[in-house]
Amino acid sequence: MDIDNSLLKFTIRQGRKSEHSVEEIEQMMPSLPLNCPLSPYRQMASFDWRDLKLVIEGEQVIKFRNRIFRTLENDPLFQRSPVEELTREQKREITFKRLKRLMEYNLLPDDEFIQNPLLTQQLYNALGQYDWSLSAKQFLAREFVTISLRGAGSSRHLAILDQMLSFEAIGCFALTELSHGSNTKAMGTRADFDVNTQEFILNTPNFESTKVWSGNMGQTATHAVTFAQLYVNDRNHGLSAFIVPIRDPKTLLPYPGVIIGDMGPKIGLNGLDNGFASFKNYRISKSYLMNRTGDIDSSGDYVTTIKDKKHRTGITLGTLSMGRVGILSISVANMRTAITIGIRYSAARRQFGPRSNPTIEWPVIEYQMQQWRLFPYLSATYVLDIFCQSFLRDFLNFQVAVLFGTSSPSLAELGQEIHAVACAAKPISGWLCRDTIQECREACGGHGYLAASRLGELRDDHDANNTYEGDNNVLQMQTSNFLIGKYQKYISEQRNGNGNVNGNGNGNDVSNDILDDLIVADNNNNDFKSQMGSIEFLNDVDNNVKQLRYTNGEDVCNMDFILRTYRFLVSYLLLRSVDKLDCELKISMGDLFVARSNSQVYYCRSLSFAFIEHFIMLRYSKFLNEELADDVPMAIRQVLQRMGILYGLWSLDAHSSILYEGGYYDGHDANRSIRTTILQLCELIKPDAVSIVDAIAPPDFILNSVLGYADGDIYRHIYQAMTMNTKTFERAEWWRDFTNDKPAVASLEPIDNNNHQNENIDQQQQQQQAKL
Ligand SMILES: Cc1cc2nc3c(=O)[nH]c(=O)nc-3n(C[C@H](O)[C@H](O)[C@H](O)COP(=O)(O)OP(=O)(O)OC[C@H]3O[C@@H](n4cnc5c(N)ncnc54)[C@H](O)[C@@H]3O)c2cc1C
Repeated sequence: MDIDNSLLKFTIRQGRKSEHSVEEIEQMMPSLPLNCPLSPYRQMASFDWRDLKLVIEGEQVIKFRNRIFRTLENDPLFQRSPVEELTREQKREITFKRLKRLMEYNLLPDDEFIQNPLLTQQLYNALGQYDWSLSAKQFLAREFVTISLRGAGSSRHLAILDQMLSFEAIGCFALTELSHGSNTKAMGTRADFDVNTQEFILNTPNFESTKVWSGNMGQTATHAVTFAQLYVNDRNHGLSAFIVPIRDPKTLLPYPGVIIGDMGPKIGLNGLDNGFASFKNYRISKSYLMNRTGDIDSSGDYVTTIKDKKHRTGITLGTLSMGRVGILSISVANMRTAITIGIRYSAARRQFGPRSNPTIEWPVIEYQMQQWRLFPYLSATYVLDIFCQSFLRDFLNFQVAVLFGTSSPSLAELGQEIHAVACAAKPISGWLCRDTIQECREACGGHGYLAASRLGELRDDHDANNTYEGDNNVLQMQTSNFLIGKYQKYISEQRNGNGNVNGNGNGNDVSNDILDDLIVADNNNNDFKSQMGSIEFLNDVDNNVKQLRYTNGEDVCNMDFILRTYRFLVSYLLLRSVDKLDCELKISMGDLFVARSNSQVYYCRSLSFAFIEHFIMLRYSKFLNEELADDVPMAIRQVLQRMGILYGLWSLDAHSSILYEGGYYDGHDANRSIRTTILQLCELIKPDAVSIVDAIAPPDFILNSVLGYADGDIYRHIYQAMTMNTKTFERAEWWRDFTNDKPAVASLEPIDNNNHQNENIDQQQQQQQAKL
């Protein structure tokens, strides 16, 4: 598959076109408030934020997002305020009503989706910037299940698909069990085939195998994509997916044989009903098996449609990346929201001032410390945004090829590469977003802790992204396994002649095991020509480590330096990880599982991080060099360049100890140069920072933060929020608890250690007597 000739191509990004009228621009990107606390910074900016917005988002996306935002803002059902306090049940009810209303609006009609499938992600991100419970509920109810049915089901499931699309049925996804999540092979739920009735009998063998956490299952789902071990005559054919009816769509009550409950209060996302389920001799028709790759014939024989298992595995790995690519994009959306609040507040909030003029207080954004805390996250938001857009494009091209039934070795290779990139991109974006939100919360001081700042809700709702769709720490192991496997195979081929893998090895079983596990296809030559370009550095691993060095006094403020340093870093960490794995393998006497486990911290984990950072920077560099139209103003290019370099240097700074260890740096010069440049870039970005966030900020109604509104009138909004709460000025209903029944101070004996022990002994004795 040739990714450059695929359906969705890289587009040249343009700023304002000459044919755009002033009215059109105003309609697309309404003017921001004048004469407000943020105006001085807006006037200082070196560019027009609207040009930057056009370059980053493009006209089609801006208009599409406007449609969503304006539709919500003008519908009374979507009204809310930053000081709203709803109970869990109220949240559930309003989220459900809004979900129904979204069905009525059909914000992304089929013809528009076909013209640009990338808009799907824009839809869910825009809804999420309003409320992530709503976005997740709609995604799980509709998209997730329909995509699963299209990918893993067959024509026999079309009726259920139609029901999902017309709101006759609501879906959920049930894989995780009480005692197993990451380790999917160990799931306990069973589906036994009954040849006589041509049905499957679902059972939850013990309470630890209860399906848990499934979004929509708690109160609303009628069907669950359920994973169970498929047994025929007690022979296990492995974990398989079934589309299981769990509730009667007419009553929303569970069917007999299905026990369903709600998970209860969560840290965030409380508008979404996560639930649990277990099955007791619950019979479902054979047709509910999602049978694209394997089926049971009427005599009970398992038949598989997979011809080339290795190619199929590569393709499946790529397809499974959907959720992870989605989380990368969700993280970028959350970073946009959080950094808008953090920077606008910092430009409006004033504390202290120079002794030379005691009447002046500085906006806190003037402090180097505040800049250094926030601007790297601002730059990360831009760089990840660009990376996300380009990776999403690769992923959709891959998905389209799979849907059209292509099954070539090159598609399988691409599937593996997408999997390896997604397994590192999801963790890095999830964690960067977590840190962005937290830094912004603290950068807003005490007021950041107000619920009306929205930062608490953002933090709580984002949190789960680091766990679902694969726990971040577990996921990134897949990336390092992939890289090590590819490298080992390369070395093995070099030793044994082109394309001739020596399976019995010279004590180095790691490579063979990893090859068996992961490297499902290869281009049969000794070059690493990855289709996305993420692993081409592997061609020169040894030379990179031997030859690349920092030269004292060199200019670090450029992309070439950053890319070259990353090439060294990834290559060095790869060789170190391979050595470590070999060493651990010897210690564990050939146990690859133990060896891998003991090679993560400081080795494989760092390798995954460095690999993805390198690839992110590669894509950003391509964006700067190849995707900007000639007429994009110089000032915009400069800002985008600064974003890239700041993110690159700031990320490299975290690896400095390993760069010294590997001999890439020598002496103090490199470290000092990088840190000085980071601070200089912060100073240069400061006058532009407000306009940089203006270009990515959602409108006030969506932002819903008293600290982040576009007018920067923070005190008026905070004061309003404080005084608007329903009970702000009311005496507490329980006020008499103070005036009546005064406590007799020191009248009770606290329980000390001796008393407590006696009490425990008493309790134990009572329990033993009760047993007897
Ligand atoms: C809000 C929310 C919504 C969810 N929605 C759904 C849903 O709709 N459907 C569904 O099926 N599931 C859902 N889940 C479940 C989710 O997919 C799992 O929680 C996730 O896959 C992690 O699995 P686990 O909880 O079993 O973690 P575990 O695997 O038990 O991990 C626990 C800890 O052990 C560490 N660990 C595990 N294995 C290793 C290893 N090999 N090496 C080193 N460390 C390791 C992990 O890093 C982690 O820190 C949801 C979860 C949440 C929080």
